[in-house]
Parts: sequence; structure tokens; C-alpha cells
Amino acid sequence: MIIAKFGGTSVADAAAIRRTGEIVRGRLGRSPVIVVSALAGTTNALLAAAEKAASGQLAAALEHVSQLRDRHLETISELLGSGREASALCEETSMMFDELAHLAEALSVLGFATLRSMDAVASMGERLSAPMCAAAFSRMGIPSVAVDSRRVMLTDDDFGRAAPMPAEIAAAAREHLLPIVAAGQVPVVGGFVGATTSGITTTLGRGGSDYSAALFGAALDAEAIEIWTDVDGMLTADPRVVQGAQLIEHIRFDEAAELASFGAKVLHPSTIAPAVERDIPVYVFNSIRPHATGTRITRDASPCTVRAIAGKRGVVVVRVGSPTMLGTPGALRSIFEVFDRFRISVDVVATSEVSVSLTVDDDPSLLKAVEDLRGFGEVVIERDRGIVALVGAGLGGSSPSMARALRAIGDERLHMVSLSSTGINLTLIVDDAQVHPVMRMLHQEFFGGATG
Ligand code: ADP
Ligand code: ASP
Ligand code: MG
Repeated sequence: MIIAKFGGTSVADAAAIRRTGEIVRGRLGRSPVIVVSALAGTTNALLAAAEKAASGQLAAALEHVSQLRDRHLETISELLGSGREASALCEETSMMFDELAHLAEALSVLGFATLRSMDAVASMGERLSAPMCAAAFSRMGIPSVAVDSRRVMLTDDDFGRAAPMPAEIAAAAREHLLPIVAAGQVPVVGGFVGATTSGITTTLGRGGSDYSAALFGAALDAEAIEIWTDVDGMLTADPRVVQGAQLIEHIRFDEAAELASFGAKVLHPSTIAPAVERDIPVYVFNSIRPHATGTRITRDASPCTVRAIAGKRGVVVVRVGSPTMLGTPGALRSIFEVFDRFRISVDVVATSEVSVSLTVDDDPSLLKAVEDLRGFGEVVIERDRGIVALVGAGLGGSSPSMARALRAIGDERLHMVSLSSTGINLTLIVDDAQVHPVMRMLHQEFFGGATG
């Protein structure tokens, strides 16, 4: 069995959905389970509608809803024509849009949106796309069945970034997905969306469909997890930032995970962990060029000093200074416990006897965490920072690469630097506005080619 996940651009419209159907057809011999994202741009539009509704702009919110409704209904009629199947799906789709309009009205009455209600809204995209894709594939002669992801993707209730429950997901996947595969049909599940065991809708966080695919892959012990997207695979840098970024044909799990967590949006940062646990290879393919090589991500790949460069903007540096306390045993643990308590993940750390500096994403609970940190000493917050990471399994022992990287960026202002002898990345904390220029300088240095 394989899991194949198709991102938003791979199901953006009728033509893309048909193209995706052909890719699925080519995989029928491998018992595919299909995971789909919302139609490109839908999740953003849904969230914008919810925000408008909650801030009292109900008319604008309903306008978004009506545009989305038209787009989905038009896509259905392009895919299915006007027969009985088409009208059943249009009815189901319209009912979901009625539900969405009611949600918008409720938000505008309340005047605020909770994370739970945002999840109810954000989930709509995948709840709409899965039945559409299943119907389209069936129409193409690929017997397909839509499965509501809320029956299989069981999570805790940390709305907006719910944590999956692997044992429950494995049991539910065996119950709801395997029989469909065993009957020679193709299950089509929405990514990103889950539910608590009491049935309340949750989401895994933006870009979470990749993570859904990996979790289903681990749950079903798949032989491969395929991520189909709009670029040829994992590249040596984000092609939107660096012209001339090159395909990486083979990369290690840990390298791919580092790149994803330092901003390579092609994979959700949590995607690799479930694959590593079961040693399942992950592939990244381009749904517009389905026969191109793509990227293979496995435990081992040929050694390489610098595999790729990633960058992440909007990072916050937190510095905690205390001449008396930091040298004492347990001080660092207590500081990290604060971040743990607020579920804020720390990316990069640098310590001395008198201060610790660390980077976090700009999280809504950061200010509360900072209040607690003040118990340890003086706390300074620096916003408008970014991370640039050079990633490669051979980097740790390679101080020449570090020297080369620092030379290449000339007199760029560096706020923190981190490289460990066993690590696989060199991370540089720079001004937010310099993330892209620094990525281009480093790419030019290590990979050559055009920069732009
Ligand atoms: P999907 O909707 O298919 O999930 P995403 O937009 O989430 O697609 O991810 C694909 C995008 O990731 C690419 O279009 C590219 O701009 C961006 N990206 C960032 N870093 C990389 C990288 N190192 N390699 C490939 N793509 C990258
Ligand atoms: N549709 C969701 C998002 O835009 C999940 C995904 O596409 O992976 O964040
Ligand atoms: Mg994505």
C-alpha cells in the first residue's frame, strides 16, 4: 500500500483534479490511499471570511463564502456534468456552504472567534475537496470512496495545532480505510483535518496535509508516502526566493526534517517523524510533471556537506540574563519548562554563564511565557529576526564550511550562530529583512548558478 497526498495546486480546479486522477490511476496496482488538500487558496479564503465575520464585517465574510460556493459548484459541474451524481454532490456541497454561512453569522454575533470555531471553518476546504475528488476519480473509472478524515485522524483538543493520537489513528485507519482498499477501491481522505475522540473538529496546523499523509502512512505501515506538489521535489532552496535552486534527488530523513522546520514549506515540519518511526521512504513529486525524477527521502543518502538552504522569517529572539542564576544546576531546565508549558517550540539556543538566548516563532502565548521568564532574570525580546539554515549531514565536523559561509555573507549583521560537532545544520540569526538576501548569497557560494 502507498499513501499519495496531493496539495492545493494539484486539486486547484477541474483540470488539476483530472491530472491528479491520472496519477492515481497509474498507482492502482499499489493499493493507494489518497490524501487531498483543499482547492488552492481555499483555506486562506475561509480564514479570511471567519476573521471578517468576527470583526463585524458580515457582508464581506458572506461574499467570500459565496465566491467559494460558486467556485466549488462550478468545478463539480465541470467534473461531473449535470447528471444525478452531480446534483447529489452539489446538494451535499451546498449544505456545507449553508453551514459555513451560519458559522459566519454566529461569529459576527459573538464578535470574536475561538480557535475551536476557526478550526470548524478552516476544516471546510478539505471536507469539500475529498468528496469532489472521489467523485471525479470514480467518473474517470477509478472506483473511489470519500472518507471523512474526522473518523480517522483522531487528535487531542489543542485547536489550531492539534496533536494526533497515533494508536487511535492506527485503529481507525484499519477500521475505515483498509476495508475500502481490500475491496479494490481507493479511499480519498481530506488532509489537515481531524477530530477529538468526542467528535469535535480540529486541524493539525497550516500545511498539515503532508503530516496527515505521513500519519496515515505510519498507521497503515505503507511502503511509501508520496507528496505531490507544484515543484519538482525538494530543491536546494525555496525557488521563490532563489533562482536556480536545484533538485535534490536523494536526501536523508533528518536533513529533510531540518529543512522543513527551518522554512522549506514543501513539507510540513512534522511530516518526517512518522515516516522515520516506520522507516517508510517519502517521495516528493510534481503533479504537473508526474514522470520527473522527484526527491527520495530515506534514512541514508550519499554523504554531502551542504545539502540545501532554508530560511524562516518572523522569528523572535528571547534573551534571559541572570548573572547569579544561570550557572546553577537546573536553571536551563526551568527556563525550557516555561516554553514547554506554553507549547512554544524553541529552534536555536546559545548559552553562556550569564545569559541564554533562544529563538521561537512569534506565538500568541509568547508574552505570557515572557512574564514567567522574568522570574529568572532580565528578559529582552528582539522581534524582526529570521533564521537562515544551511543543512547537510557533513556540516557538523566541518569548520571550513562555516568559515566559507561567514565569508560569503560578508558584513551581514549576525545576532546568533549555532553549529554543533554532531549537528547537521549551521543556523544564522539575521535581521528579518535580510533572510532572503542571505539565502541567495549562501546559495551562490555553495551551489553557484544564478541568483535573483
Ligand atoms: P502544497 O499546496 O502542494 O502543499 P506548498 O505551497 O505547501 O504546496 O509547498 C510547495 C512550495 O514550497 C513550493 O511551491 C515552493 O515555493 C516552496 N518551497 C520552499 N522551500 C522549498 C524547497 N527547499 N524545495 C522545494 N520547494 C520549496
Ligand atoms: N489546506 C491546508 C492549508 O492550506 C492544509 C494543507 O494544504 O496542507 O494550510
Ligand atoms: Mg503544503
